[in-house]
Order: sequence, then structure tokens, then C-alpha cells
Amino acid sequence: MSEQKKYVYRFTAARTEGEASMKNLLGGKGANLAEMCRIGIAVPPGFTITTEACTEYTQKGGDYVLELIREEVQEGVRALEAEMGKKFGDATDPLLLSVRSGARASMPGMMDTILNLGLNDEAVEGLASRTGNARFAWDSYRRFVQMYGDVVMGLKPVAKEDHDPFEVIIEMVKKKKGVQSDTDLDAHDLKELVRRFKALIHARLGLEFPKDPWEQLWGAVLAVFESWNNQRARVYRELNDIPEWWGTAVNVQTMVFGNLGDSSATGVAFTRDAATGEDLFNGEFLVNAQGEDVVAGIRTPQQITLEGSRRWAHLACIGEEERKAKYPSLEEIMPEVYHQLLHAETTLENHYKDMQDVEFTIQEDKLWMLQTRNGKRTGAAMVRIAMEMLRQDMIDEKTALMRVAPERLDELLHPVFDSKARAKARVLARGLSASPGAATGQIVFFADDAEEWAKKGHSVILVRLETSPEDLRGMSVAKGILTARGGMTSHAAVVARGMGKCCVSGAGAIHVDYRKRTMTINQETWQEGDWISLNGSTGEVYEGQLETMDAELSGDFGALMKLADKYRRMEVRTNADTPEEAAVARKFGATGIGLCRTEHMFFEGDRIRSVREMILADDEAGRRKALAKLLPMQRGDFEGLFQTMNGKPVTIRLLDPPLHEFLPHDEASQQEMARDMKVSVGKIKMRVEELHESNPMMGHRGCRLGITYPEITEMQARAILEAALNMQAKGLEVKAEIMIPLVGSVREFDAQAAIIHRVAEEVFAEYGEKIHYLVGTMIETPRAALVADSIGRQAEFFSFGTNDLTQMTLGFSRDDAGKFLPPYIRKGIYERDPFQSIDQKGVGLLVEMAIQKGRSVRPGIEVGICGEHGGDPASVEFFHRIGLDYVSCSPFRVPVARLAATQAAIRQE
Ligand code: ADP
Ligand code: MG
Ligand code: MG
Repeated sequence: MSEQKKYVYRFTAARTEGEASMKNLLGGKGANLAEMCRIGIAVPPGFTITTEACTEYTQKGGDYVLELIREEVQEGVRALEAEMGKKFGDATDPLLLSVRSGARASMPGMMDTILNLGLNDEAVEGLASRTGNARFAWDSYRRFVQMYGDVVMGLKPVAKEDHDPFEVIIEMVKKKKGVQSDTDLDAHDLKELVRRFKALIHARLGLEFPKDPWEQLWGAVLAVFESWNNQRARVYRELNDIPEWWGTAVNVQTMVFGNLGDSSATGVAFTRDAATGEDLFNGEFLVNAQGEDVVAGIRTPQQITLEGSRRWAHLACIGEEERKAKYPSLEEIMPEVYHQLLHAETTLENHYKDMQDVEFTIQEDKLWMLQTRNGKRTGAAMVRIAMEMLRQDMIDEKTALMRVAPERLDELLHPVFDSKARAKARVLARGLSASPGAATGQIVFFADDAEEWAKKGHSVILVRLETSPEDLRGMSVAKGILTARGGMTSHAAVVARGMGKCCVSGAGAIHVDYRKRTMTINQETWQEGDWISLNGSTGEVYEGQLETMDAELSGDFGALMKLADKYRRMEVRTNADTPEEAAVARKFGATGIGLCRTEHMFFEGDRIRSVREMILADDEAGRRKALAKLLPMQRGDFEGLFQTMNGKPVTIRLLDPPLHEFLPHDEASQQEMARDMKVSVGKIKMRVEELHESNPMMGHRGCRLGITYPEITEMQARAILEAALNMQAKGLEVKAEIMIPLVGSVREFDAQAAIIHRVAEEVFAEYGEKIHYLVGTMIETPRAALVADSIGRQAEFFSFGTNDLTQMTLGFSRDDAGKFLPPYIRKGIYERDPFQSIDQKGVGLLVEMAIQKGRSVRPGIEVGICGEHGGDPASVEFFHRIGLDYVSCSPFRVPVARLAATQAAIRQE
């Protein structure tokens, strides 16, 4: 026979059985309560029923689990009785308990806490006479009946518009008495509340409120277990990848009372500022209150520190006199307890070596800690806290680097509002925080107006019901985008995030009148040209012009990134098509360009005219003539890139998209093009028709263009090499890497490489000068990965184009996947969107295999990736593990990828 399993762990003065490392078994709250006991912090004694009991409940039900835990719980309660010198269920001096849920990770949506359990009609009288405080006794009792009636017995609002039925009664009693605050209710009123609460429970549920404390306790414990599977908790688990089998623990704890009068209080605090990271103890409290009164907004909470109180008053426009009279700090009114609290928070932070979020109660000038955990924080706070703790010698370098979630750096990379300006600003509307950052500008309603205004040097905010591809250019020149409709995946949101541009989407309160060029919110109207500001990180829309600051890798952020480079193995390059983008990426620490998409240069200015001329040409001679016009423009582009990236590798991909993308498809534009180019509309139509493909992504594109029209490859190779030689002549160090796209067979590669090498010989002869360059390929078709050894014999580098590779390996068209991918993810068919985070088991395997094959024939061959995945932390970690030399991502993702690559290296150690 195996020994009986232990389901109850005590944390009492006499004996503490748990500790911080036991979160899986005791939940976060329980493990930390035990840990606090161990390090000598005053915690009301209690015990934790394990998560394993919850699992038993889920599998075998309430009766079964009660049998399992009954004796241990009874023993636990006896231990608390002994320690407190009170008896559970006693009518003269009852021991009262709280029952608190607590999973491994803190989880909103779980059962709410029940306080003052153990009270009934007799015990409340005993409590009143024992404490000589009838108001306190009845306040505790009404709270208990309210909480128990709600969370255990299930008396909740029926419709979502309904108010909480208990709160409705409280409001009625307050109104009848003509008072505002709950503290204005006396013992008599509170007794009346208890009576009405019970009557309501009886009327609505047909149930008697349980008198027997043990019945109350078992009911509460089972309700906690049950809440693990309620709808809210399930949804939260799904969203946060928390498995069902974790279960929740239950904490049963002796009550301490913050509602015992003016020397009692309850509060919450952070050891550092969770928004900015500033090393400043801060928090809020309420005198004569209990439990969640502080967060529930029952009264205006007061600040703990004097400094915090003054800052708060300043923002709330409250004068010093009023502050002192009405909202004094804890530091001022209870200096003695304040020092106990300061001592406790310092002890806790030093012990956990991380910013703590604590809950506490003061009972008649004595401080009790009720909870501690690592506090949630903004990206900025993550960085600052990590770096400051490093400087304060609390943590080492690697720990500091691991403390910052790479994804959250995104918040630091976009312009931000000055926090003082923000606090003062008037919020006009709220929408979704679609793309982070701050923007301020004048309202325009049309994309072409945005362009025109921007050309004249105005800062504009493009305000639309929603955006469409026609608005792209207007969006790109606007400082920010605001839409009335659309969600996080709307056109506006997706495009804005791609551009790294601030966007608030789906601000439903906004009415846009395109004809009048006005925006109306709640009867108030704004005209074209009026100033507004957007906060893409919070979704807020402000009136007027708010001060912004450009994001910079300075201060703690800069120091963190520098530190990251110390432990990083993989390089991080960028996908950039213009010198401007390249400059941003360099500022963010990119060590090269991993992908320059030459076709993006074809759209600029009147280049598109020459491109179209080439496409319309009837023969090679005609095409060459048009290409000759493009040559100097492309050369200029490349010169700019080489200059910006001086000394760093620049990988340039030859023309990739199908040619029809360069022709207009609607009648009006075709006519315009015909007039402009002096050809008939018929000819254009015919060419468009000829170029039409049923599956263009698998059609005439990539190196297939260069195979059929070698003159395109010739022109591009010449432009690259001439640019390289020109910049070398200026004394710059040029590292050109020419990349052939969409190769499937080594013969495709050979044919294109032969053209490039031939052109190189010609150019070198003309210049009387040489330059070192590489010719490599993208691995983006499954076949290329399969035959990577034969390709590797010829190609000098591989760059995995994981967008196309994912598309072709999964057989999912990226442009159509929106229709079926969301349900696929919900159903767990794929864990994550494979276009966002690399499908490690499938596509990842191909990449790994291709690297091995490539290295087997060309040891040391340079391998990188340039798909969207290069900026995704989970993918970056994978790429580190399988040995890539670099990842390449968009400029704004560079710091994210740098840190992700560092963390991957540290984890692997
Ligand atoms: P949550 O998980 O929602 O934070 P808690 O279990 O921490 O819920 O309980 C919420 C609040 O109830 C605590 O912050 C504390 O103010 C109060 N509380 C819980 N247990 C006790 C107790 N034993 N004595 C006094 N107050 C308590
Ligand atoms: Mg709560
Ligand atoms: Mg809590």
C-alpha cells in the first residue's frame, strides 16, 4: 500500500509546509503565502488545499473529493483554532476564515474570494459583544452573506444589463437613509442589509442561507473547484494556453479585519511603478474597509506614500490643502504602520528579486500581508526594472535579459506621448489599440488629401470609417490612422502594424461624414484640419496636439540591447527596400540587409512607366530599351543602400512578382495608361489578358522571369555591381549578395548565376576594377529544400523564404487562409498561425534538413531566413536551435529579434 496522499499544506506560525517553489501543487497564491511565512512576514495563518484535489474533483466529483480531504481540512482548522485561541463556529468568539482560489498563474475569471466565513445569526452577536463593535460585526456579516450568496449559491444578475442584485439593495438602503458612502451605514442599517440579502436569496433561489460553518466551508471549497471549469475561466485558459489539468488550489485562511474602525485599512501596493518602472514604492488603500473595496472603486482610494499622494493630487487637480484633509497618505496618517509596510515590501522585493505586487490589511495598527506576486508591467517598465535591478546588484546580466519579453519591446519602438501631457489630455473616444505608438496631427478624411497635406509639411491623422488598399499611400504619409469600424485584423490595423504606424481602429463612437468632412462624437463635431492625437498603445483618441517623443535605443533600452549582443550568437539583419528603412534598422542594431525587394523600387515616381514599357514591348529589343531607362534608377537605389549599410552585407533579391502586378486592371487606369504611353487601350487590355494567371503565386514569377527574360536579370545584376563599384570607389566597404528567388532546380540557379557572372566580367572590364560579391538563392519551394545539397554546390548562400515555403508546404494560400485558419487555430489543428510563427514540425523540419544538406556540400555556407517569421520570438528561438547564421526582419522588429536571439542562446546554455 502506498502512503496516503497529502492534500493540505499548512502555513502557520507553528509549522509551514509549503514554499515558493511549490506553485504547481499549491498555486501561486498558496506557495507565496507559505514563502512569506518562512521569511518572517506577518501572514494570517491558514492552509492550502492542493491543485491535485481540484483535479480529483473535476474527474470524480464533490462527494469523492470531500472524502479525500475532510480529515486533513478538519485538522487544519483545529490547528488554526489552537493558534488563534478561537473556535470555528463558536457563538461567542468565532474563528472566521477566508476562502481564496489560486491557480499556478494568476487567473481572472476564477471564483471570487469569500471573506468572514463562519458567521451566522448567533456568531455575529458574539463578535459584536466580543469586539464591542456592532457595526464591524454586522458589516462583516453582510459582506459574507453577499459574497457567499453570489459565488457559492449563485445569486447573480440575470441579464447582462442588470446590476448586481446585492448592490441594488445597498443602494436602496443608502438612498433611504440619504447617505453616499458605505461607511455611513450603521449597525442597524447593516443588519437590515443582512435581512434583505437573505430574503432575496430565499425568494430567488428557494434556498436557506447555511447556518452551519462547516457546511459553509465545504460549500465554499467545492465552489472554488467548480469555478475552475466555469465559462469565464475556460475562455481565459484557452486564450492563455493554460491546460485544464493544472487545476486550482484553495486557500483557507484566518481573517484579519480592515473594517475594524479608523486604525484599520486594506490596500494594494507595488514595490516599483508598473507603468514606468521607476523604483518608487506606490499603492492605494482605504481606511475601515475590507477585501476588494480598493479595486472595486467603492470610495476614492488614498495613496500610500506622501510623494505618491502629491503626484496623484497634482494630476487630479486637487490642491495640497484638500489633499491633506480628504485624501492623506498612509505615510501621514499611520506613520508607524507605514514603516512596517515599507519594511515588508523591501524584504519581499529583495527576497524575490523582482517587482512585487502585494495585498495587505491593517487591523488596529498591525500590518498583515495577504498576497505577493511578481507584478505585471508595461514593456517600458520591464526594461527599466530589469536594468535597474542589474545595477542595484539584485540580479545578474542573464537574468536581466530574461526578464524582458521580446514581444513587449514593440511598445518602446514607436513614438510615445509625454506622460504628463497624457494625464492632462481629454479623451474623446476609445477604440482598439490596433498598432502601438503615439500620433498627433490634423484630421483629413481622404487618402489623397493626406498625401497633399503631407507634401505641404502638415502632420495628418487619416480618419476613415475603414481603409482599403487604395488608401495605402495616404496611410503611409499620415502620422496615424483612426477608423470607426474594423477590428484588430482590419485592413487599417494590419497595414498600420506592418508600417509600424500608430493606429486606433473600431472607435465606434465616431461618426464620419465624408461629404461634410466632419467627425462627430456625442454631438460634438470636428472639421478637417482640426488637431487630434491617437494613442495606439491604449486605443485612446485625444483632443488637440499632445507632445510626442521619438523612440530611441537610449537609456536603459539601449543598455539592454547592448547587453543582449554580448550573449547573442545569431545575427539579426533587416528586410529593407529603401535607404530610409535601412537607416532605421541600423539605428535599431541591424547587422545587414537580409532582403531587399527590388520590385518595390519599380513603383516609385515615373519608374512604373518604364516598367510598363518593358512589359508592353513586343520583342527583346523593345524590352532592352525600356530596361536601359530603369538601369540608372536601380543603380541609384542600390548605391543608397550600400552607403547606408557601409561595411554590412546587403542581400538583394532579383525581380520576383508576376508581371501583371505592374499593370492596371480597371478600365479608367488602363485608359490613363494608354494616353500616357501613347498606345491603344486594346493593346493594354490584350497584354493584361495574356498575363492573366489562374494561380499567379505559382505562376510566371521568381527566377522563371529571369529564365524567360534574361535581359531583366542582366539589367539588375549590372545595376547592383555598378552601384557596388561606385560606392567602393568612394571608399566604402561594400558587401553585395545577389539572391535568386524561387529556385526549385539547380539548373535554374545555374542559368541565372551564369548571367550574373557574365555581366560581372563585363562590368569589371569596363570599370577596370573588381569587387567581391556572392550569388546565392532563396530556399522557398519545398523542392529546393529537398535538393538543397545539389543547389548548395553552386549557391554561396541560402536564405529561407519562409512565407512562400510555408504557403507551399502546407498548401495554404496566404491570401486566402483568413477564411479557414481562425477555426483551425481554435480547434487546435495548428497551434499557432503558421504564417506568424514557424510551423516547427513541418516547415521547420524542411529548413533544418536543407541546412544540413547545404552544409554537407559547402561547410560554412551562410544560411539565414528572411520571411515574416524572422521577427517572431518563438520562431527566432527555433532558428537559433537549428543553427541559422541570421534572421532578417522588418526594421521595427530588429530589437525584438535581437533580444529573442539572445534569450535563445541563454536558454540553450
Ligand atoms: P484575488 O485572487 O482576486 O486577488 P484574493 O484571494 O487575493 O483574491 O482576495 C481578495 C482580497 O480579499 C485580498 O486582497 C484581501 O484584501 C482580502 N482577503 C483575503 N483573505 C483575507 C483574510 N484572510 N483576511 C483579510 N482579508 C482577506
Ligand atoms: Mg478578485
Ligand atoms: Mg489577491
